[in-house]
Amino acid sequence: MKIIIIGGVAAGTSAAAKARRNNEHADIKLFDADSDISYSGCGLPYFIGTKIADREQLVPRDALFFKQKYNVDVYIRHQVLEIQPHSKVILVRNLVTQEIIQEQYDKLVVATGAKSVVPAIEGLHKANVFYLRNVNSADRIREQVLTTKPKSAVIVGSGFIGLEMAENLTARGVAVSVVEMAAQVMPALDHDMGVYVADHLAEKGVQVIVNDSVIRLEGSPLVTKVILKSGTEIHTDLVVMAVGVKPNVELAHKAGIELGSTGAIKINRKMQTNIQDIYACGDCAESYSLITNKPLYRPLGSTANKMGRIAGDQITGGDLEFRGILGTGIFKVFDLAVGQTGLTEKEGKKAGYEVVVCHNIKPDKPEYYGGNEMVIKAVADKNTGRVLGVQIVGKSGVDKRIDVFVTAITFGAKAEDLFHLDLAYAPPFATTKDPVMYTGMILDNAIRHGRELITPEELKEKLAAGAEIQIIDARVAKQYTAAHVTGAVNIPHEEIRAELDSLDKEKVVVTYCNKGVTGNAAQNILINNGFKKVYNLSGGYKNYSKNS
Ligand SMILES: Cc1cc2nc3c(=O)[nH]c(=O)nc-3n(C[C@H](O)[C@H](O)[C@H](O)COP(=O)(O)OP(=O)(O)OC[C@H]3O[C@@H](n4cnc5c(N)ncnc54)[C@H](O)[C@@H]3O)c2cc1C
Repeated sequence: MKIIIIGGVAAGTSAAAKARRNNEHADIKLFDADSDISYSGCGLPYFIGTKIADREQLVPRDALFFKQKYNVDVYIRHQVLEIQPHSKVILVRNLVTQEIIQEQYDKLVVATGAKSVVPAIEGLHKANVFYLRNVNSADRIREQVLTTKPKSAVIVGSGFIGLEMAENLTARGVAVSVVEMAAQVMPALDHDMGVYVADHLAEKGVQVIVNDSVIRLEGSPLVTKVILKSGTEIHTDLVVMAVGVKPNVELAHKAGIELGSTGAIKINRKMQTNIQDIYACGDCAESYSLITNKPLYRPLGSTANKMGRIAGDQITGGDLEFRGILGTGIFKVFDLAVGQTGLTEKEGKKAGYEVVVCHNIKPDKPEYYGGNEMVIKAVADKNTGRVLGVQIVGKSGVDKRIDVFVTAITFGAKAEDLFHLDLAYAPPFATTKDPVMYTGMILDNAIRHGRELITPEELKEKLAAGAEIQIIDARVAKQYTAAHVTGAVNIPHEEIRAELDSLDKEKVVVTYCNKGVTGNAAQNILINNGFKKVYNLSGGYKNYSKNS
């Protein structure tokens, strides 16, 4: 059997390795236009920064390795020009000799990945404007940084690649400005979680400009000034474009391979395209959401590897099938870890769910053992209790919690289930009740026990619409005096029972404390004393102050 794989990074090499494990006798050929294969794209920002000194650490495997270990013939610097499905032939150009060769296949795997989005900006094509996609592009940025020692850089786009670059250029002593067209950094997060990232960037000296876009790059031959739509001008020595990626599908599309609604290659659970014996995997292919069952494009190495393995299995007669994704991601920006899985609040609403949202602020382990506070925003379906998604920011313990949530959500957990998880506990690792369990308790109390939550945004919207709300600050007077929610009265928790007669049971009440726990205690007292509608402010004053 002749197997041909186009693309040799995460998906293509996984497909090749799995195919060989299943079938010792297949003739497996892999073509890649690039000079590097099987590298860690995810490590590239750290190669530009100071964490990875050696290029070989990023690219541990080459064509010889694949020949010796897997008996796979890897052709680097070979670009596939055309797929001819009727004759089961591909045309390939050797980029060194320019020779064009023809290869026959029985099974073809398209793993052509993604490519950087190039926006329509005047003056973009200059030698100090960079994109980060592969090892060669990282080499170019690193070389520029080391040889010209730029004092400043503008990063366009504040997704995870832009922010990882912000950290790593800062580590090289470069003053970084990040320009984001959306109203917040990290637009994939809900706005109220993006705020934590923005504040952390500011603490680390990164200038963040949101709600603005680059319209022109000025300077010749190199860019020296970035002009924004607002008229703001930023002097710079370097520009990194990080405005996203799109699936690299022209070759497939030209061959008649169907694209899905996301623009990536449409595949079934066996990684099959619409054309017999042609499979697709990785960043060029569409996934689907485990929550909505709808197509989802989240080009990540984790998924690309998985899809590649499935494709490799399928083309050699295996029965592995793709089970969809939650769109889980995690990244680090300076001292902050940011994890995300499933639907955000905005995505949940857009998908038609009646969402319940909570902000749970808890340390990852006891404070006496050096615990750091994390903020967990969780979204659940009010009607079924199913957890739909989670976003977490914090300095430690984020990776563990997000993966616990991923596991629970994957198996369809409801909010009420989280409390019952038998999670590991000892002070160096967690708190007695883990933040995951607390999150379940808060959501479940809201969904099934009438302890409703209101987000700072919802409170502001209600007040702006003229709603009459009694807002009770249940903290001690000193905290209230220092700062409080506009319109709140201070009734410390211990005094609420004595003050019940001064409050109107028929009117809507919002209680709050610092992070939510005492606010909930106050809410309990009021509900148990016959108050009709009592909300606890989600995440307490801490969350409110971040979002006001
Ligand atoms: C800076 C950066 C940081 C990242 N960090 C993370 C992270 O932390 N976690 C995570 O999960 N993911 C991360 N990713 C994403 C991850 O790297 C990608 O999802 C992964 O590389 C996708 O693998 P792939 O094999 O599908 O495609 P690609 O890596 O895009 O590889 C496709 C290959 O196909 C080749 N090709 C394309 N067309 C042709 C053709 N016509 N002929 C021959 N060859 C062709 C290309 O040259 C390329 O080498 C990061 C990406 C970048 C750029």
